[in-house]
Amino acid sequence: MRSKLPNTGTTIFTVMSRMAQEYGAINLSQGFPDFDCPQPLRERVSHYLNDRRNQYPPMTGIPELRQQIAIKVRDYYGFAADMDQEVTVTSGATEALFDAIQATVAPGDEVIVFDPAYDSYEPAVTLAGGRTVHIPLQLPDFSIDWSQVKDRLSPRTRLIIINTPHNPSGAVMSREDMDTLATLTRDRDILVLSDEVYEHMVFDGGIHESVLRHPELRERSFAVFSFGKTYHATGWKLAYCVTPPALTTEFRKVHQFVTFTSPSFIQYALADFMRDCPEHARELPLFYQEKRDTFVQLMTGSRFQLTPSRGTYFQLVDYGNISRLPDAEFANWLTREVGVAAIPLSPFYEKAPESTLIRFCFCKDDSTLQAATKLLRAL
Ligand code: PMP
Ligand code: GLN
Repeated sequence: MRSKLPNTGTTIFTVMSRMAQEYGAINLSQGFPDFDCPQPLRERVSHYLNDRRNQYPPMTGIPELRQQIAIKVRDYYGFAADMDQEVTVTSGATEALFDAIQATVAPGDEVIVFDPAYDSYEPAVTLAGGRTVHIPLQLPDFSIDWSQVKDRLSPRTRLIIINTPHNPSGAVMSREDMDTLATLTRDRDILVLSDEVYEHMVFDGGIHESVLRHPELRERSFAVFSFGKTYHATGWKLAYCVTPPALTTEFRKVHQFVTFTSPSFIQYALADFMRDCPEHARELPLFYQEKRDTFVQLMTGSRFQLTPSRGTYFQLVDYGNISRLPDAEFANWLTREVGVAAIPLSPFYEKAPESTLIRFCFCKDDSTLQAATKLLRAL
């Protein structure tokens, strides 16, 4: 059969988690917590499930949840979003990213992504008939080379996809980055898709530079956020997109035919929890900073070299002192022979550089991190 995605295999997250399970390895590959989400939130979910909230909620998301999202966006980013015209609830950030791409990219359009790029972007662009233009982030700090961006802009450029805090590197974009992006896209027919699912995981006193903070950029941006990351509930697949009214109209034309809506009882529960427990999100940067520090400290004395993680719940490590295997082979070996699963970086590149970096996920109980690092320190 003819494939519309001939170059796409099974996502590396599924491949590595499956391998971890097969070999009984500690799974620091796919990003998900192994601790539970807050008890009051689970209590609300079960309350609304038993309250028979079983039928289709509104296509755009329930008003109670969109209202809480608008309040959050105002409190964090100083932007008074219109909950009816600028906020849409989706089934995961994956859906929001897909919807935004299908809504804006036409055959022949070019979309700029920065490698290593999250693996759902390019297939969505390809399905829309667009062409993905890959620009590598600069090593060692994974910063954006804006002069290269300027050179690669063309009359066909329709969308630039950014991701801050950045998966897999843990880099975060600065205010200057945002200003440069605004300047480069000014007076051109270019939109921005800003993947901000790790918004509450910025460390060491840094702030998250959402496009929503930037009055000029937010006029031409889709900002995408995920409840899965913030509330330790990746399996619920609930997220949202904030974008101006004209873009929301186009976004919803796609959303209504991709999923139409998202699970009702979880939306009610999230609305209550956002209203009643705003401290959960406020405490998240410190919570994850401590996890990062625990992991870094536990890795002291190992032969891995750690690159600074300034955000997300990921840590890159260089295994060059241990092996010269290519990263995918090293990650497979580590899973099978050592018992710790990791994510190689090469699947996120069009042309992977010569490097010996893999990604570990540290959103785990301390006991899991202790057990994994004991094995890693022995290498
Ligand atoms: N973007 C990035 C950068 C991610 O790491 C993830 C996480 N899995 C997603 C999007 C998708 O988020 P969700 O699980 O809400 O679909
Ligand atoms: N975003 C998660 C990660 O980076 C995985 C998401 C998925 O498995 N689809 O590990």
